[in-house]
Amino acid sequence: MERTLVIIKPDAINRGLVGEVIDRFERKGIKLVAMKMKHLDDKILEEHYSHLVDKPFFAGIKEFMQRAPSILIVLEGRKVVDVVRKLAGVTEGTEAMPGTIRGDFSLSVQNTIIHASDSQESAKKEVTRFFTEQEILDWDKIDMEVIYSDTEKE
Ligand code: ADP
Repeated sequence: MERTLVIIKPDAINRGLVGEVIDRFERKGIKLVAMKMKHLDDKILEEHYSHLVDKPFFAGIKEFMQRAPSILIVLEGRKVVDVVRKLAGVTEGTEAMPGTIRGDFSLSVQNTIIHASDSQESAKKEVTRFFTEQEILDWDKIDMEVIYSDTEKE
């Protein structure tokens, strides 16, 4: 089944929104297969946000991402990359739709509560950036039968 990487960012940690964010994934039926808490250093942030390193606001992103630890999560589910991007909402919090994570909790373009992989290709890269294969757990979630049809469970 498809996997995606989510980072619960320092703003969510400082605001006590960790449970709220994870609850949204769980309520949707998405399966958690790996999770850890970590301070993200300059090197990993420069790699993870390599598409933004030349932007004038990159120093601000690094400072923001190092204010507190982050929580890294691997999620598994049908079309989960796309589903989690939709649950997150658009980057600019003031434009994100109410009902999305950013729409409900962010008023910022920088302090965006979570990161979520934007394609299956980047999800694969990002999962291996933060997790070893041994840290990703293979387990049977007992409600799979009611979340998916027989043909959707693969
Ligand atoms: P997304 O997080 O929605 O995939 P991007 O990949 O464009 O969006 O940006 C990554 C992160 O960089 C954003 O979540 C946000 O924390 C920060 N960011 C993006 N654009 C800006 C900006 N204009 N000013 C400050 N920070 C930004």
